[in-house]
Amino acid sequence: MGILAADGQLDAARLARHEFAGELSLAGELRPVRGALALALALRRQGPQQVLVLPAVSAREAALAPGLDVRSADHLLEVVRAMAPGDDVPALPKAEPMTLAREQLLPDLRDVKGQSAAKRALEIAAAGGHSLLMIGPPGSGKSMLAQRLPGLLPPMSEDEALASAALQGLAARSFDAKAWGRRPVRAPHHTASAVALVGGGSPPRPGEISLAHAGVLFLDELPEFARASLEALREPLECGRITISRAARQAVFPARFQLVAAMNPCPCGWLGAPAGSGHRCRCTPDQIARYQTRISGPLLDRIDMQVEVHAAAPAQMLSQGDGAASAAVASRVAQARERQLGRQGAVNADLLPAQIDVHCALDATTTQFAQRAATQLGWSGRSLHRVIKLARTIADLAGAAAIHNDRLAEAMQLRRGLPER
Ligand SMILES: [Zn+2]
Repeated sequence: MGILAADGQLDAARLARHEFAGELSLAGELRPVRGALALALALRRQGPQQVLVLPAVSAREAALAPGLDVRSADHLLEVVRAMAPGDDVPALPKAEPMTLAREQLLPDLRDVKGQSAAKRALEIAAAGGHSLLMIGPPGSGKSMLAQRLPGLLPPMSEDEALASAALQGLAARSFDAKAWGRRPVRAPHHTASAVALVGGGSPPRPGEISLAHAGVLFLDELPEFARASLEALREPLECGRITISRAARQAVFPARFQLVAAMNPCPCGWLGAPAGSGHRCRCTPDQIARYQTRISGPLLDRIDMQVEVHAAAPAQMLSQGDGAASAAVASRVAQARERQLGRQGAVNADLLPAQIDVHCALDATTTQFAQRAATQLGWSGRSLHRVIKLARTIADLAGAAAIHNDRLAEAMQLRRGLPER
């Protein structure tokens, strides 16, 4: 555009009010660009007087950003004509936002037979935004449970939906309208590279953890992921974003996902299988320890809940509708979240240490109980903080102001799936 402006055919003041993006073909056609919505959101922050001009497909994506004037063009010549000096030049057509589908067909918790303890854990995770590691044998329903978490979460806010759509649009050619307002569930395979998982490349693109922003990141067979990939999760788990550094530039992508991870208790999977189940663990204590320590202490420390999931008994497998439907759980979760947001403007999982002192205060008896248990279990201060936040969520689900011993005790049980280290 700068070259064209130099020959005097274009109105400089008009040009200055416009931002342009598009891939230019040799014949002058404009082709879609990646990240149109992200661009629109960034431009909107600069002020309302800006006009964004994009190729048609990208323009429809960008027009999702409220309050921004987005115009569409298919050919460079249309743009040049619209930027010519004078009052009677043809304006570029206003872009219509893409049609969005709000249809939500999420898997229901009712399909999971038995597993009342695991379902309770999932409800608590949903209510407080807590990260969850499920440890159990193959076929115990860990993936089924994980897939049902989004159905327990409240609908996305508009800001969350916009951020999620912008990130999807940066990673793919364009945003899929059917995914609008739907909490994403990303389940990368353990062979995924660190770049695919956390983002990278040139120019930097968001990875799975950012595509899971405002949704759920499900990592099955957690110990099988590369150590470097797992360690890279520490920053986003702590602060909800990821910094990607390349030689010359740095990119920061949002990555506030809810982590649900799953693993077998040992390499063969059958450690702790009940007698008579037909399964017996054949791993040596050394193999078990090596397997479990593939998840480092600092990472484990950052996962709020670590629970065992057992295979449902055959009688439960044949029973019909033995548990609450997702809708009933989601309504309790919504009430618990309202309490949290009203009290502290964040979900319990996101409370900082100073806020824990204010919003999760324990009475004298409960404090003593917490200290005694932490000493016996060899818990770090960080672990204890996470247990207290969990107990806060359990109290919120019960509509209670105070965290008493029984709630703290339940929270402790939700963090005992793996030995502390
Ligand atoms: Zn084993």
